[in-house]
Amino acid sequence: MTMRPHRASRWLYPRPEGLYCEPGSFFIDPVRPADKSVITHGHADHARSGHGAVLATPETIAIMKIRYGEGCAGAFQETAYGEETTVGGVRVRLAPAGHILGSAQVVLDYEGTRVVISGDYKRAADPTCTPFEVVPCDVFVTEATFALPVFRHEPAGDEARRLVDSIRQQPQRTHLLGVYGLGKCQRMIALIRAAGYDAPIHLHGALVALTEFYASRGFDFGACHPIATDTSTNRRDFAGSLVMCPPSAIADRWSRRFEDPVTAFASGWMRVRGRALQRGVELPLIVSDHADWPELIATIEETGAAEVWVTHGREDALVHQLGLMGIPARALTLVGFEDEGD
Ligand SMILES: [Zn+2]
Ligand SMILES: [Zn+2]
Repeated sequence: MTMRPHRASRWLYPRPEGLYCEPGSFFIDPVRPADKSVITHGHADHARSGHGAVLATPETIAIMKIRYGEGCAGAFQETAYGEETTVGGVRVRLAPAGHILGSAQVVLDYEGTRVVISGDYKRAADPTCTPFEVVPCDVFVTEATFALPVFRHEPAGDEARRLVDSIRQQPQRTHLLGVYGLGKCQRMIALIRAAGYDAPIHLHGALVALTEFYASRGFDFGACHPIATDTSTNRRDFAGSLVMCPPSAIADRWSRRFEDPVTAFASGWMRVRGRALQRGVELPLIVSDHADWPELIATIEETGAAEVWVTHGREDALVHQLGLMGIPARALTLVGFEDEGD
């Protein structure tokens, strides 16, 4: 299907730095240092250091400062959900994306057209962030991380319960759970607590600062103990307990201190059996902070968008499906975004 580009593409279009809003002269999630930026959320492929000015939610700005330092941008403009500002004649508002704490969709109104850039998002419940808000729009810009019909995430609470059951059934083994440090870690802790596990949870050092930040925002994670960086700890100290670490730590030297561990990994990619086997994951948990295939389709329909632009992920499959549904769609070729393995 060939199509004429929507008129919004005259003022909002990709440049090498990222998606650019010309009248406002700002980029959304630029991958290179930019004078003016709007940042959707704190994941490293979206929020980078070195921009002149950053407009984002207070939580996203706090996360950027934790990761990159106080001076990681020239200036910060904290913008709460629903608050509206005008930049070069463009009305800019942030709406909750339900992805991680502080994650936002960017709502742009200009010359009678509304474009919503969703960033990364999900629709499933998450006790650690504000739920996604459907914002009716003319053009909806969506991610496509899990845009294949095979991707259907499991109810996250059920997956957490499987982990807790496994810990109870094998009290002599250490359970080692791989999680991404921002968002997934804190969501899994909350779900594991909700599943009735109240023993201390041991955290790899790389997970501590952001978990403490969430706790400072009022989330109650129970007892979470950082693991000492030295290797002096006795292997048996962790028998029967739950240890959480970044995915990369599961297979490296660090994990050798644990006795006969059960390795678990919480990720949408765990739907693909080969990926679990390849990583040596004994207990795959299919939990993602991205929309799965049914959520992507439902969300696009609910926005009522006349046209859809697809960013990073499996653009082809989603563009094809929307074509079948009679919704004009095209892939924006934006570089620099990763799967986040999420
Ligand atoms: Zn993300
Ligand atoms: Zn992303």
